[in-house]
Amino acid sequence: MAALVDLHLHTTASDGRLSPTELVRLVASKGLKQVSISDHDTTEGLAEAYRAGEEFPDLRIIPGIELSADVPGDEVHMLGYFIQYQNTQFQETLLRFRHGRVDRARSMVEKLASLGIQIEWERVQEIAGDGSVGRPHIALAMVERGYCKEPKDAFPEYLGRNGLAYVERTRMTPAETVELLTGVGGVPVLAHPAYLADMEATIAVLKEAGLVGMEVYYAKYNEETVGQLVELAKRYDLIPCGGSDYHGLGNSDEPLPGTMGPPLETVQRLEEVAKTLAPVSPH
Ligand code: AMP
Ligand code: ZN
Ligand code: FE
Ligand code: FE
Repeated sequence: MAALVDLHLHTTASDGRLSPTELVRLVASKGLKQVSISDHDTTEGLAEAYRAGEEFPDLRIIPGIELSADVPGDEVHMLGYFIQYQNTQFQETLLRFRHGRVDRARSMVEKLASLGIQIEWERVQEIAGDGSVGRPHIALAMVERGYCKEPKDAFPEYLGRNGLAYVERTRMTPAETVELLTGVGGVPVLAHPAYLADMEATIAVLKEAGLVGMEVYYAKYNEETVGQLVELAKRYDLIPCGGSDYHGLGNSDEPLPGTMGPPLETVQRLEEVAKTLAPVSPH
């Protein structure tokens, strides 16, 4: 059965390939009722998404974001829901993260050049447009130049954590990430936990830092993994979340929005927590 909720979606504001308007129309056509746009280090897609959403009164768009946190030897993605994203300080912090992304992406392009992979930085910038630049934009440039067939093929050898062209970027600790999100009324949720090298230990650390939910109904996970995550979420008293993590990058295995998602009750639970977080001033 198609899902009614999808809490993990990307747009051209970061490394997704559909504009916020196109994405909103797509999710509405899939019959989704509650969605969150959760771009990497930016909320720049939300204003357009809300405008596009006026066409679909039955569709609720929850303001979200995806941040990266530093856990030694691993890459932790943290989602935040119901963020009061207009907060000026929050936006300044996000802008700093996005500047860091530009430097890092440039270094990755240089590293690729030293490995004989010739892609142009200007082309990567063009592909990213106004969006928060990320590795998928580099991967798309590599596909264009024939270095790989699909964007995801660029990761194991070059762009992934252990890839030859990987460059780290400055990341916050899990506690700092939680603080940044809750500071603007956002509910912190761990993204795609089954990709973690040491999942349970990391969940324990994050829970300690104030984590409230974790993705369970993640479209790329099979039934067995989802089952294990349901149990883990119960054990750590974390709200089970999830969605498609749709980017529209053209990878052959990419699930569409609405492929899998949490129950409607999850959104209620997230909203209840959001209400308990201190309201913030706009400055
Ligand atoms: P960045 O924000 O630059 O760190 O890039 C993160 C994005 O790269 C993720 O949201 C995915 O879209 C993509 N990505 C990361 N790791 C992989 C991988 N192993 N295979 C395919 N895509 C990946
Ligand atoms: Zn992404
Ligand atoms: Fe992610
Ligand atoms: Fe994502």
